Amino acid sequence: LKSIAVLTSGGDSPGMNAAARAVVRTALYEGVKVWGIRGGYHGLLEEDMFEMKSRDVSDIIQRGGTFLGTARCKRWKTPEGRMMGYKHLTDRGIEGLCVIGGDGSLRGASLLSKETGIPIVGLPGTIDNDVWGSDYTIGCDTAANTIIDAINKLRDTASAHRRVIVLEVMGRNCGWLALVSGISGGAEYILVPEEEYNLDEICDNMTEAYKKGKRYILVVVAEGAGSGQEIGQYIAEKTQLDTRVSVLGHIQRGGSPSVIDRVRASQLGEQAALALISGLSDIVFGYSKGRVVSIDLHDAVNNKKILDPDYLHLAKVLF
Ligand code: ATP
Repeated sequence: LKSIAVLTSGGDSPGMNAAARAVVRTALYEGVKVWGIRGGYHGLLEEDMFEMKSRDVSDIIQRGGTFLGTARCKRWKTPEGRMMGYKHLTDRGIEGLCVIGGDGSLRGASLLSKETGIPIVGLPGTIDNDVWGSDYTIGCDTAANTIIDAINKLRDTASAHRRVIVLEVMGRNCGWLALVSGISGGAEYILVPEEEYNLDEICDNMTEAYKKGKRYILVVVAEGAGSGQEIGQYIAEKTQLDTRVSVLGHIQRGGSPSVIDRVRASQLGEQAALALISGLSDIVFGYSKGRVVSIDLHDAVNNKKILDPDYLHLAKVLF
């Protein structure tokens, strides 16, 4: 292909900038025109797009968020909306599209490809790490590090007061962020949507642990496993232990991307551009066992990722 475009969609994640930068610079290196679309699918429908030069992606690799902007777009969920987006691309001679976003954004990309045949390559850009076929999504490492930082601080105050701390973290319906941050933060309990838990049993264990001299307890709750507030309230009432709830919220989305997120996003961006240029389509690039892999786009959106059973087991052993 001789002209491609890139957009970021859905929730922003640290490393999206590095990925978009790599798409742009790889295309230019290969002598291919590259367009940036602002504000995701919404921007495409509003024709908010511009042809990019190398300088347009200067000074962004270290920044969180996405310089292209992102959005949620209802109209993209309709075939008419997607057809209009297709027209706005072809009007400009754009022959292929790279979509950087989460599960929903890739679903939108999959539909556009099926309906119009335009070559599409997706990159998994979400802190949730919930894209099937890949062990990794752009931003998940930085988000996990942000959670660890919060856990370290909460531990200090929890220990001083002998408190139970309930920390609610993001992840939508996926428990990956809670699981890895809980393991690396040394949480006593990690509640994830993928596994059933018995709160009464947990409360009984907590009461016993305190009787034996436990100084504090940290519970990490994935947002998909329940409300941190409600779980904290239940624990407080049932155990009568001094319990505090923290909901970390959007802090998890921001911040300068980690080395891992920058390097991997750059590598995935390069692969996405090269694939599009050579005419490939319906691929998502991700990582599996430490290497770049290509996943069928439709498989990626039609399958549900499962949590690594080794991590689940480890969490139980280390408790
Ligand atoms: P994150 O999970 O990190 O927030 P995401 O990409 O999953 O990212 P969504 O809000 O689910 O975020 O999706 C982003 C956009 O993708 C939606 O606003 C919509 O435009 C498009 N999209 C999502 N689901 C679909 C779908 N089923 N069909 C068509 N388009 C979709």
